[in-house]
Amino acid sequence: MSQKTDFDVIVVGAGFAGLYMVYKMREAGRSVRAFEVGTGVGGTWYWNRYPGARCDIDSMEYSFGFDEDLEQEWEWTERYSTQPEILSYLENVADRFDLRRDIQFQTRVLSAEFCDSTDVNRSGHWVVKTDDGREWRARAFVSAVGCLSAANTPDFEGLDNFTGDLYHTARWPHDGVDFSGRRVAVIGTGSSAIQSIPLIAEQAQHLTVFQRTPNYSIPAWNAPLESSYQQEVKARYRELRAANREVFGCFGGLGNEEGIELPEAAALTREQQQFVLEEFWKVGGLVFIGAFADMTRNPEANEIASEFVRNKIRSIVDDPVTAELLCPKTHALACKRPCVDTGYFKTFNQPHVDLIDVSATGIERITPTSVVGGGREVSVDALVLATGFDAMTGSLNAIDIRGREGQALRDKWSAGPLTYLGLGSAGFPNLFIITGPGSPSVLTNMVVSIEQHVEFISDCLDYMDEHGHHLIEPTRQAETDWVAHVNEVASEFVYPTCNSWYLGANVPGKPRVFMPHPGFPPYREKCEEVVERGYEGFIFDAV
Ligand SMILES: Cc1cc2nc3c(=O)[nH]c(=O)nc-3n(C[C@H](O)[C@H](O)[C@H](O)COP(=O)(O)OP(=O)(O)OC[C@H]3O[C@@H](n4cnc5c(N)ncnc54)[C@H](O)[C@@H]3O)c2cc1C
Repeated sequence: MSQKTDFDVIVVGAGFAGLYMVYKMREAGRSVRAFEVGTGVGGTWYWNRYPGARCDIDSMEYSFGFDEDLEQEWEWTERYSTQPEILSYLENVADRFDLRRDIQFQTRVLSAEFCDSTDVNRSGHWVVKTDDGREWRARAFVSAVGCLSAANTPDFEGLDNFTGDLYHTARWPHDGVDFSGRRVAVIGTGSSAIQSIPLIAEQAQHLTVFQRTPNYSIPAWNAPLESSYQQEVKARYRELRAANREVFGCFGGLGNEEGIELPEAAALTREQQQFVLEEFWKVGGLVFIGAFADMTRNPEANEIASEFVRNKIRSIVDDPVTAELLCPKTHALACKRPCVDTGYFKTFNQPHVDLIDVSATGIERITPTSVVGGGREVSVDALVLATGFDAMTGSLNAIDIRGREGQALRDKWSAGPLTYLGLGSAGFPNLFIITGPGSPSVLTNMVVSIEQHVEFISDCLDYMDEHGHHLIEPTRQAETDWVAHVNEVASEFVYPTCNSWYLGANVPGKPRVFMPHPGFPPYREKCEEVVERGYEGFIFDAV
């Protein structure tokens, strides 16, 4: 790797977003350097190596669409691929396009400061400091740090004194973990827990799951991908990618060829509602959320589907008390990110698996050898924290990012993130945030959102060069209006009605602001309109 320290663009992160950003910058003839904490590429798929980790959007869709040869040549083996397969895909992408030579691994970006000082060498540039003690400069600073990359470890009393083996699902050991013959506790019942619990239970001598909030989960019905099906999709890949950009969550775009309008729940009789829900349950996965047109907007429609899922849980789990504990009753379906599982609920039918409800007490404390919560003390050899992420802002706020006049981004965002289009923030020229708060990001098939953002940023830099601009940033007014708009759109949905990580509610002290923008198509149209109007809402070369 060259010793050069000045670049057109500095990128933080080497997951889907960082890799495509490096590719695009190189394609545009810009000098680029990416920094990545991990020893390799992959981001989410590098870190989350827990048993059962896999995507919950079909792999044929949860993959890059920017290169036709790549999408034609890569063969997925399952409907929802495992973490090792997705990691291997991203490693293949890095090799295929020779991206690693512009990525410095095992390097954390500590700070990034926009210099508008009188020092001519630095004026209008970002100065970036990394944990190897070095300093770098670039015209543009691009965050590809990921929405779900800052692992959230709650401050449980006594955790530091635990003498058994401690794991976090988002920081899983690379050589795996063997739980055979061990007494294991899992804290958390979100997506990572729901994926890993059935597999941990297969090995553990005894497994105790500590649950604060039960979650809805839809069966994946995962299966090997038939070669004939794969060829069929590949023959229509252009159509599929385009169709996905027209649907709310950027997946399943070809599922409704006939253009049948899904009915709202109230338009159906009770029998028809149950029939529709049953059919969607058979398809499985996140598609279930679309069973009624108004599922995520109308609390009554949502409750019909929620009760349907609860009845499924009751029919799967033998012990009625455990079944009721596993039934989510305090929040709407899809208000928290819905989970997709393989055998989660039936795991609790096994005699060596216990569920402890800690909704009233929380985790009271961890002793050197046990977990105390829900009025019980459970001795364990290993403890798995499936406690999720400081989502959407955690990794970004961990970097000391300073804009004009030394303002810290984390201070500016102390009452919640302020962005225009989720892509930039006023007072931070040439800072670009891929899938930032205020963009559809985590409510979508994220690869589609990532590609759209990377292409927006790349086109924007081209536009600036063509028009002789050096700097771009959102206006304060555009930003204020956008934040209000995102809140208004979100309020039409059930999303803001519960304590979810979309709202920052899983991290004590984090401001409660609904962060993602619901709906990709209107968002993309807005971005296109902004560009057509000469980057409306942005200002160039402000002094
Ligand atoms: C278990 C799991 C399953 C998921 N399944 C799906 C799915 O099915 N569909 C879907 O759409 N999305 C899914 N997601 C969301 C997933 O995060 C995105 O789809 C996508 O992988 C994000 O890519 P990214 O490049 O934006 O961020 P990431 O993959 O998170 O990569 C960010 C990288 O930035 C690095 N980084 C962060 N801060 C710094 C720093 N200061 N210095 C240097 N490097 C830094 C991190 O080490 C990380 O490698 C899942 C997430 C998880 C955790």
